[in-house]
Parts: sequence; structure tokens; C-alpha cells
Amino acid sequence: MIDLDSQYLNEQHRMLREQLRRFINKEIRPRADELEALGSLPSDIYESLGRLGVLGISIPEEAGGAGFDTLATVVLGEELGRSGIGGFGAAISDHADIAAPLIARTSNAEQRERFLPCILSGEKIAGLAVTEPRGGSDLTRMATTARREGNDWILNGQKTFITNAVSGQIFVTVAKTDPEAKGARGYSLFFVEKGNDGFTTGQNFRKTGWKTSDMSDIFFDDFRVPCENMLGDEGQGFYLLMGGLERERLSIGAQCVGMAERALELTLEHLKAREAYGRTLWDLQVIRHDIARLFSELYSAKLLLYHAAAKKSRGENARLESTLVKETLPELLKRLVDVCVQHHGAQGYMVGTEIERLWRDTRPHSLGGGASAVMRDEIAKLL
Ligand SMILES: Cc1cc2nc3c(=O)[nH]c(=O)nc-3n(C[C@H](O)[C@H](O)[C@H](O)COP(=O)(O)OP(=O)(O)OC[C@H]3O[C@@H](n4cnc5c(N)ncnc54)[C@H](O)[C@@H]3O)c2cc1C
Repeated sequence: MIDLDSQYLNEQHRMLREQLRRFINKEIRPRADELEALGSLPSDIYESLGRLGVLGISIPEEAGGAGFDTLATVVLGEELGRSGIGGFGAAISDHADIAAPLIARTSNAEQRERFLPCILSGEKIAGLAVTEPRGGSDLTRMATTARREGNDWILNGQKTFITNAVSGQIFVTVAKTDPEAKGARGYSLFFVEKGNDGFTTGQNFRKTGWKTSDMSDIFFDDFRVPCENMLGDEGQGFYLLMGGLERERLSIGAQCVGMAERALELTLEHLKAREAYGRTLWDLQVIRHDIARLFSELYSAKLLLYHAAAKKSRGENARLESTLVKETLPELLKRLVDVCVQHHGAQGYMVGTEIERLWRDTRPHSLGGGASAVMRDEIAKLL
């Protein structure tokens, strides 16, 4: 809708977009209701995306991925968002754009060989398990512990609201390895696998939206993790996690752009066809102005997203820009989709319509990956 491709993207990015759009239109959108009823994204979808090479776009070539830059992350996010199925976007980006790059960034060569191939092929589903019942925004409140015993670390604690916890098999998690350390210090990162004693998950949470991705608690109860599954240096877990924030924020921003553009397309189509007062709704200036205002805001926010991704692709620091993206786009998306539902009239409130799903599925972006208020705090600190 807002075409920045010719300005910012190369041939490789454009081919990626085409490939993703074709796959999603053929394999995902027609299955939207079925996938929502399942409450989880089936493994065959990861495998298909793995065969297309899409799950490794953010991974360096030396680690077995495609080695694309951050603009490719934006293309992936936008196309996931355009699907209009928030849970599909969440499950795939959690796997391919959060867990996999974090492992690639923090692992040694031996670990990379052990952990990454099954994620990039889609054979196993991955997630990131950080949030705890007493610590979401304030991660220094994480209480999961890991104590050393011989060649193992013994994990105890609870993670919550974890996307892919039900369907996934492998997770990156964080635990306190130095009980004396204060604040962000003394946490370490672990690669953990389901299936061994001491690792359990709860029920699939019933969410208002994002029904296509599953979510649950993860409980560690004297769960043994071999020392060679620690990612990065002991005590550096918190800082290693923070190293992936820019990508994560841009990925969420890109999903918001994809969803917003799809909502506007659907609404324009509806307004131009729907007759009232002897003309169409689009002939009413008040409605046109509503849409024009939102389009204008979206255009600016999308430029910011591309500017941030281009900066990061050039290897420059994009901390401020990616935080601005994460603060701006989820908030704009909520307002935009709400107006779109309003202009659909009662039809927009009916289960099974694309705009209704978009409305439900746009809510979490301003909560997960750093709440909007936390982003404002960070922006203020950078000023
Ligand atoms: C759909 C969904 C999927 C998720 N998937 C995952 C996952 O895969 N892995 C994972 O680890 N976590 C996941 N989460 C958890 C998510 O990261 C947390 O919800 C988020 O970090 C916020 O933490 P919290 O829910 O504990 O809210 P709290 O930290 O309790 O915050 C509640 C509210 O308080 C306000 N607030 C917080 N801090 C400040 C501040 N400094 N200044 C002003 N106001 C503030 C904000 O409005 C915030 O929304 C997911 C969440 C959702 C909704």
C-alpha cells in the first residue's frame, strides 16, 4: 500500500516478499479459521517455511542461515502481519526472529551445530522463555534459579505467558546463577529442551486474540541442564538478551505495518462499495478524512521503521529509532484498526470477518516485547 520497496529494498528482499506473500495467500489465509480452532500453529507450517529457507533469514551464513540484513526482518514481519492472523505472526517470529537469532548470536561453534539446524529446517519449534509471574517489564525481578551440580545446572522456577510453550520443544531461558548478584547481574542464558524430567508446561492459555499461537507456563523443578547448554558467558544472560532488542522491536513494528495496511485495504474496499444516502460511504468527507489522517500517520511511522532497519543493516546503532518504532506503531495500529471496525459497521464486529480478527489480534503488540510505557521511559532516557 505504502510502497517503499524501490527506495529501500534490493532484489533479494523483493524476492523474499514475493515468496512469502505467495505462500501465505495459498497456505495460511485459507486455513485461518481452522488454525484458530486448533489454538496452535501446526508443525507442518514450520517445515514448509523451513524448506523455503525463510526460518533462517536472520541467521548469519556461517551459522547455516541466509545472512540477510535487518530490512529482510522487516519484510518478513510485514508479510506475517499482512496475513491478518496475529498468532501466526507471533509463532513464526518468536521462532525465527527471536529465538533463532539469539541462539546464533550467543552460541559457540559446537552449540550452533547442535542447536540451529533443527530450528532452521522447522523440524523443531523454538521459543523464548523470560517472563515470570512476578517479573514482566521489570526483568530484574526474575526469580528462576540455576545452581551448579557437577556437569549440570539445576533449574528451579516458573516462566509464564510463553509463546510456543505448548507446541515447542526448545527454548532459550534465563535463570539466576549468582544468588548474591544484584539487579541485572548474575543471570545466565540456557538452551533447554522439553522432554526430560523436571520440565513441564501448563494448559494452553485462553487468549482474546492470537489464537493461532499457543501460550503456557513453563515449570522447572530440579530440571537438569548440561553445562554445555549455557549460552554465552556465565552471569551475562541479561545483557545478552538486551543485545537482541533492536531486531525484536523492528520485527514487531513491521508486523504492525503489515496489519495496518491490510486493515486499511479492507476498509477502503468496504467504504467504496457500501452505499448509503444515495452514494457510497467513501463519498462522505468525514470518513475520508478519518482514513486520510490515519494513512498519513502510518506513512510517517513506516518511514521511521525503514529508516531504523536501514541504519541497523548498515551496522549503525538504531537503539533510539527501534524504540521509537516499538512505541509508535503498536499504539497507532490499535487506533487505526478500531476506526476500521467502526467504518465496517456491524459487519466489522462479526466473528469470521478478517477485520474482526485484525481487531482482536492487534492488542498484544503494545504489551509484549516491552510495553509502550517502558518504551517511553527508554526514549526519555536517550534524550
Ligand atoms: C500475547 C503475548 C505473548 C507473549 N509471549 C511471550 C514469550 O514468548 N516469552 C516471554 O518471555 N514473554 C512473553 N510475553 C510476556 C510479555 O513479555 C510481558 O507481558 C511484558 O513484558 C509485560 O510484562 P507484564 O505482563 O508482567 O506486565 P507488567 O510488567 O506488570 O506491566 C503492566 C503494565 O504496567 C505498565 N508499566 C510497566 N512498567 C512501566 C514503567 N516503567 N512505567 C510506566 N508504566 C509501566 C504498562 O502499562 C504495562 O503494560 C507475552 C505477552 C503477551 C501478551
